[in-house]
Formats: sequence, C-alpha cells, structure tokens
Amino acid sequence: MKVKELLEKQCGKTVAQCSNEELYYGLLAVVKELAKEKESNAGKKKIYYISAEFLIGKLLSNNLINLGIYDEVAELFAENGKDINLIEQVEPEPSLGNGGLGRLAACFLDSMATLGLNGDGIGLNYHFGLFLQKFEDRLQKENKNPWIEEQSWLTKTDVTYPVQFGGFTVQSRMYDLDVTGFENRTNKLHLFDIETIDESLVGDGIDFDKEDIKKNLTLFLYPDDSDDAGRLLRVYQQYFMVSNGARLILAEAEAKGCNLHDLADYATIQINDTHPSMVIPELIRLLMERGIRMDEAIEIVSKTCAYTNHTILAEALEKWPMDYLNKAVPQLMPIIRELDTRVKEKFSDKSVAIIDDENRVHMAHMDIHYGYSVNGVAYLHTEILKKNELNNFYKIYPEKFNNKTNGITFRRWLMHCNKGLSHYLDDTIGTSWHKNADDLEKLLAFKDDDAVLNKLLEIKNDNKKALAAYLKETQGLDIDPNSIFDIQIKRLHEYKRQQMNALYVIHKYLDIKKGNKPSTPITVIFGAKAAPAYIIAKDIIHLILCLQEVINNDPEVSPYLKVVMVENYNVTKAEKLIPACDISEQISLASKEASGTGNMKFMLNGALTLGTMDGANVEIADLVGEDNIYIFGESSDTVIEHYEKADYVSKKFYEEDEDIKEAVDFIVSDTLLKVGHKENLERLYNELLNKDWFMTLLDYKSYAAKKEEIYKDYEDRKTWAKKMLVNTAKAGFFSSDRTIAEYDKDIWKLN
Ligand SMILES: *Cc1c(COP(=O)(O)O)cnc(C)c1O
Repeated sequence: MKVKELLEKQCGKTVAQCSNEELYYGLLAVVKELAKEKESNAGKKKIYYISAEFLIGKLLSNNLINLGIYDEVAELFAENGKDINLIEQVEPEPSLGNGGLGRLAACFLDSMATLGLNGDGIGLNYHFGLFLQKFEDRLQKENKNPWIEEQSWLTKTDVTYPVQFGGFTVQSRMYDLDVTGFENRTNKLHLFDIETIDESLVGDGIDFDKEDIKKNLTLFLYPDDSDDAGRLLRVYQQYFMVSNGARLILAEAEAKGCNLHDLADYATIQINDTHPSMVIPELIRLLMERGIRMDEAIEIVSKTCAYTNHTILAEALEKWPMDYLNKAVPQLMPIIRELDTRVKEKFSDKSVAIIDDENRVHMAHMDIHYGYSVNGVAYLHTEILKKNELNNFYKIYPEKFNNKTNGITFRRWLMHCNKGLSHYLDDTIGTSWHKNADDLEKLLAFKDDDAVLNKLLEIKNDNKKALAAYLKETQGLDIDPNSIFDIQIKRLHEYKRQQMNALYVIHKYLDIKKGNKPSTPITVIFGAKAAPAYIIAKDIIHLILCLQEVINNDPEVSPYLKVVMVENYNVTKAEKLIPACDISEQISLASKEASGTGNMKFMLNGALTLGTMDGANVEIADLVGEDNIYIFGESSDTVIEHYEKADYVSKKFYEEDEDIKEAVDFIVSDTLLKVGHKENLERLYNELLNKDWFMTLLDYKSYAAKKEEIYKDYEDRKTWAKKMLVNTAKAGFFSSDRTIAEYDKDIWKLN
C-alpha cells in the first residue's frame, strides 16, 4: 500500500481534512508499521551499545528519510496544502542527553542499522530529560522538559524485571524506540523505566525529592550531582540501567542457544563512558547466579565488554565512594572487592587500582582491567590517553588501546537539515554519497567552476535567511542575513572557552566604538546549556546575554555587530544553525576536547573552522589542508607542560597586554553592570584574573589575530566559496558509517 492509503486509513479521513497534529500522529503510527517490517533477527552475535545518554533529536523526518518515503510524504502534503515543516513542529524533542556524547550514541545507532549490523542501544527512559533552558533576567533558568505523550515513538514491551537495591526492589519495564537504518534494517533502542515513577514529584523547576528512589528514579537525566542525595541517585540510575541491560542480554543470548559459557560469541557490549561500568560486576554476578564459577565468569565478561573513553577532564572520570555503593548496590560489593584484589595482587602500582586509598571505586579502571578494548574518540585524544592520562594502563595492556575517531550521520546532518545543499550535491555529483560518504570528494572536480561556487554561496545565503526568520519568530531577534554568521554552539564549559569568544566580542564592540567599522557586519551566535550547579558556566551565559542587550541596542554598533544567545540549544536548533554558519568556532584549550562532533557537522555543511589543534580539529586540518582552515593557539604539548609545571598565571597576560586588560575590565564596567548582576559579573572577572584554569588569556591574542584574518578572507567571496567546497568534499571521513565500520572490524567483529 502507498503511504497515502496507509495514512488516510490511520487517520480515518483524507490528508486535506487532517490537522497538522492528526497528520503527525497518523504518520507516527504509519512509520512504526513500516519500521516493523524491517525488524530482523539475523546475525548470531549482537552489539549492545549501553549509554546513559541518547540525544536522538526529533525522529519523524529522520525515519521518513531512512525508510525512503520522505519525498513521497512531502509531495503528498504539498498537494493537499500542508507543509511538512509545520507537521515536524508538532513533535517534541526529547532531551535524553547532555551534548556530544549522547548525540554520538544516537548517530552510532543510525549507522549500525544502516550498515545492517545486529545491534541495539540500551539506556534509560528519562521522563523530563536534562532540562529545558529559559532565559529570565539574563540568567539561565531550568525547567522540566516532558516529551512522552499518549502517542509517542515509544512502544511499551512486556519485558520487565525486578531490580534489587539495598533494602528494596523496584519493578522495571522496557520501552522500545525503532532505529530505522537508511534503506536497511530496523534496530531498537531499549529504554528502561520503573513502573512506580511519579511525575507529580516535580513542580515548576527541576527540584524534586531525591530520596524517594521508587518514584523518582527515571525523572531526569542524572540530575544535580552537587550534593550527596543527587550523586547517590546517579548510582541508583546507573545500576538500574545495567542490571536491566545485562538481563536482557543474557535472555537474548540464551534464546539463540547460547549456553552462557560462550556468551562472547553471542554478545559484545560497548560501554559508552563510565556511566554503564557497573555492567561488568553485574554480569559477573548474574553468571554466578546461573551456576558459573567466579574465575570463569570474570573471563567471560572480560571477553564481552569494551570501553570508550570520552574525556581526560579529571572531574568527569567517575569515582564512586564505597559508602554509596554499599548503600545502593550491596550485592555488587563482594565482586568489586574481588576484582580489585586480583588487580592489586598483580600490580603494585597504586595508580591502576580499582579501589583507592580513600575507598573510592574508579569506574574507568574497572573497565580497562576487565574489558577487552579501550578506545579514545579522535587520534590526538587516543595519543594523549596512551602517553599521559592512561599511560600506566597502556604499559600493561598496549594491545587493548585503539582509536575510533568519532563521526556523525549524514542522513540527519546533511540530507535532513540542509535540503538545499543535499539536493544540489545530488544534481552535481550523484547520490552515491548517501551510502558512501567518501564520494563527496567528487565535488573537488568543481573547485574552479564558478557556477558551482556561486550556487554554494546562494544555498548558504538561503539558509542564513531561514535562520534569521527562525530567530525572529522564536526569540524576536533581528539579525542581518548579509552579515557573517560566526557560530559557537555546544555545552557551556570553561574548557570550550565561550568566554574567549565573548572577550573578542567585547574587543570588537569597543573597537567599533572607537570608529573602526568592519567592512562586513558580523553576527556572533552562541547556544549552550550550563549544568545547573556549574556556577561559572552560568556566569558566562549571563555575560553573553548582557552583551547581547548592550550591543544590539547600541545604534552606533549594532549595524556592524550583533550578539545572539539562542535559548535552549538542542538538536532541533542545531539543525537550523549549522547549515547557516559561515564560521565554526572550535576553540577549546588544546588537549581538552576529546573529539568534538559539532566541528564535523559544520564542516560538512560548508562552514570554515576557526579552531585550536584539539580533538578532531587536528584531523579536519589534515584533510582540508592549511589553506582551508584557521588554526591558532598553543599546542596540546605546550598546554600539558603548563599543567605539569603549574606555571600559567593569567594575571601576567592581563597586566602585560592593553587589549586583554581592556576587554576583561569591561566585564565589570558600568555599561555592563547597568544591565547585569554585579555578583555574577564580578565572580567571572575574578575567575579570569586569578584562576583561568583553562587558559583563556594564554590564547586570546592569537585567537583575535586569526579572527581578523578570517573576517578579512570572508570578503573575497569566490576564494571563500572554494574553501567551503573543499570542506564539504573532504568531510566524508567523518561519516559515522565509517566510524561504526571500524568499531565492527576492530572491536565487535560481528560477522
Ligand atoms: C553535535 C551536538 C553537540 C556536540 O557539539 P560539540 O561542539 O562537539 O561539543 C552538542 N549538542 C547538540 C545538540 C549537538 O547536536
């Protein structure tokens, strides 16, 4: 049956008679039906990607594209006076992730299904997600972000397990989301929930009773960890996730004839960062419960689990106090102790112990000793793990370490979000790049073709107009589509250095005030959520919102410079911002950004990168060559040395440079204090002057110089367009299809 018939049958009336809501819910049901036909049980061994986060974004369009019916549906709607874009708007976006790590997990599921791999995701069904960000009084306010409706992409299953915690038991329930592969099989994302969840625990903001685990367990994506109750809740969540996951894995393996001694032939588990690490002791426990001796259980699990490291930031490597684990999951403690004892018997080096002298359990250490693979997420990151952060482990297990440079799904990040460019590529180089991303290189043949270059500029311009209209509609902002769109969108963190970008904005503002007008106007766009308990990050948001207020309302400056802070940055907003971007800000302190994936999305959509030699920027630079990227700042080696010697003093940079001093002082100037809060601005000012842990002032001058260069280069539109073309053409390497093929070949070995 054609989609039209299926949809009209579902809705009980013609397309023309339906409201946008009816069409959305009708399509949702039709897509589920079509996805079901592509479910498959093929393949003996299965990969389970366990992650506390899956930042999936809206699913309708992606599913339509992957099922190969997007154009048919869009046409059907157009014929009936409906706009598919308005129908997409009906869908709420779940916020089941923080940022890059969660988005990566979502891209990976898409690629696993697209490559036809037998692989599912396992996670948690957070009812209110991370949070919905609002700006009030130029401050971030957090609200709950509900997304589960009467009819949603979730399908309730009859899989349910009792999960035991210290002193009580909860009953779980598995909900499934379809993961449609691009013209291939349908896999599943399994999200576990508790039967006794109580949404009424949450009022206006995001506060709730953190003690009542039976009612609160899956309300939010690991919420506030600034107090004991919040941290303990994270432990409960993590165990709940892996205990359900482990039981599902054993049940599916047994259903295929596995006798559990040969589990590694039926299952492989990718542990996405340390949040799911308790799957290791939990699987050992479950195997022992089923009659397997401990020695063998440990061996089986060690052949089944692989670990991905996402960060070298010390505060992000989880170390759980034994007290927490004793309280929440006492049944795991004998196993964790035994795993630790075995390590200590073999290795006297305290730095590789699982349980340290302060009775904390190092989750990553457990993963490395008792998993068969340890991977970093970009070349530079993996090298730093091997040479520095995890060097003591690398010396023990060199064979376990490997790199898997991150990737993104081109279905969402080009075919869906940038239809103009996507269709033009189809017309120019054919459609083979949809499945074979390296074929984007065919575009290089048109590097000197004026018609192609002009068309690329025209498409970019259309996208900028669309973004301007969207920002007008959603936030009442007026921006000039003919200005340079200079964009930094990512989680707010000091290491990502939004504050450095803000300092440059201040400099530019003051410079324009002095009469130095840029030849092309500039729009600097930010989008970022800050963790609710991360004070300085929230102060940086406050600074940006104050700058937005002052600069956009200054008639002397605003024709030449505008600042925009996009509210509630999420996948949907990213899909509108990225295709409209001229300059992609990837300015983390070298060595601190493990990979980044925003950088890849921008490159693919023809933005030029202004960045440090950090994360995957290094590989972008390698691919496009130095003429097509703007690199500045100290190298990771130099930065690591500064940390080792503890010799970075931000105040010296402040005192020795007029521009730096002027920009930093402006944070606490009368102009800003008039619109901002003294407490927030002074705290940020003092932080930059007296601490600046992520060395903003170290790189500020070379950053400012590169900005001037890239703004100047923008004037030569033809040369710029060539650089755009090279960036898109060389982005094929960053397809998550390539990343997943590598995971399979080197780690999972499914076939
Ligand atoms: C891609 C993406 C990220 C990751 O961005 P980075 O710049 O790599 O940190 C974060 N949030 C959303 C919504 C994304 O789509």
